[in-house]
Amino acid sequence: MIEYENLGKVNAPFFDDYRQAFGKVLDSGWYILGNAVKQFESDFAAYNGSRHCAGVANGLDALILSLRSLGFENGDEVIVPSNTYIATILSIVHNGLKPVLAEPDIHTYNIDPARIEEKITSRTRAIMVVHLYGKVCDMASIGAIAKTHGLKIIEDCAQAHGASFKGTKAGNFGDFGAFSFYPTKNLGAIGDAGAVTTADEGLHNAITTLRNYGSRIKYQNEQVGYNSRLDELQAAFLSVKLKHLDAITKHKRRLAQLYQMGLKDDFIKPVVHQDYYDVYHIYNIRHPRRDALREYLLKHDIRTEIHYPIAPNKQTAMAGVLDNTPTPIAEEIHRTTLSLPISYFHTDAEIARVVEIMNSF
Ligand SMILES: *Cc1c(COP(=O)(O)O)cnc(C)c1O
Repeated sequence: MIEYENLGKVNAPFFDDYRQAFGKVLDSGWYILGNAVKQFESDFAAYNGSRHCAGVANGLDALILSLRSLGFENGDEVIVPSNTYIATILSIVHNGLKPVLAEPDIHTYNIDPARIEEKITSRTRAIMVVHLYGKVCDMASIGAIAKTHGLKIIEDCAQAHGASFKGTKAGNFGDFGAFSFYPTKNLGAIGDAGAVTTADEGLHNAITTLRNYGSRIKYQNEQVGYNSRLDELQAAFLSVKLKHLDAITKHKRRLAQLYQMGLKDDFIKPVVHQDYYDVYHIYNIRHPRRDALREYLLKHDIRTEIHYPIAPNKQTAMAGVLDNTPTPIAEEIHRTTLSLPISYFHTDAEIARVVEIMNSF
């Protein structure tokens, strides 16, 4: 059996260090916003080349608080890709803002800059880009559009830890980079966790205030805040794992290379371009007979996943939230995409086996 993911196996190499980190937090007697959170925030900012990093409870909150801090008005519009994970869109809805879908590029699966411009109105305030599957969006074009129209940029970096475009890492192109450390992500905690990066000190202070009941000084509440603090234990575990993130990325990139070289051309493979350093949170291919292919692989004991089976505007929760503008490109991706095993614990031999079975389909 070749599993799609096994988080016990992914984390096993770090267990000893995790236990030590756990002991240290336990002994400290300080369990909320203590030294471990401060340390991780500084570690991750340094790793990412970001001026500031604020730990928050999860990736969705990282997006929600980023938008919240920008002070938009009810009904203002935020442009977001039509093929993203639902969390990106929910963060807009939870702020009383209107998500406006823009279609992705069929080759990169990332939001198409040309289609962003078509969606800009007098109510547009921001673009939420999603660096899907671990490839950074075309931030040169998107940055230029945002500048021309005076729009904010929030980057959903949940799948793009360490990914870069022309040498700059995800989370440094926009006003905010919102990260998730959900256990399956490339930098995954062993529970929920998230963070927000920014170059702006005022915006950083806004996030650290909002995450802690809108309070900077104990029992003085300046804003209608949230409880969305990064957990002290998760921060300690994340500092351990962050030291190994580049090794994790290198491993995944090598496995991706095996797929790229080995898979026959019947499968539409991810595009590779020298300006982009991709981290392959997900390695997807597309095929017109995706469901039959998935069954075939399962019969040969190979597990796969679909990211994602249903387009956001086809979700029940989005009825009456998203308008009915068709999103044929997103739907084509949702209909044909298949995610192949590419975890830190997978061996070259396992990937060779997946390639062999795939090619016999
Ligand atoms: C995982 C993910 C999120 C949400 O992160 P959580 O930590 O689960 O809240 C948001 N956006 C994208 C693209 C994701 O993949």
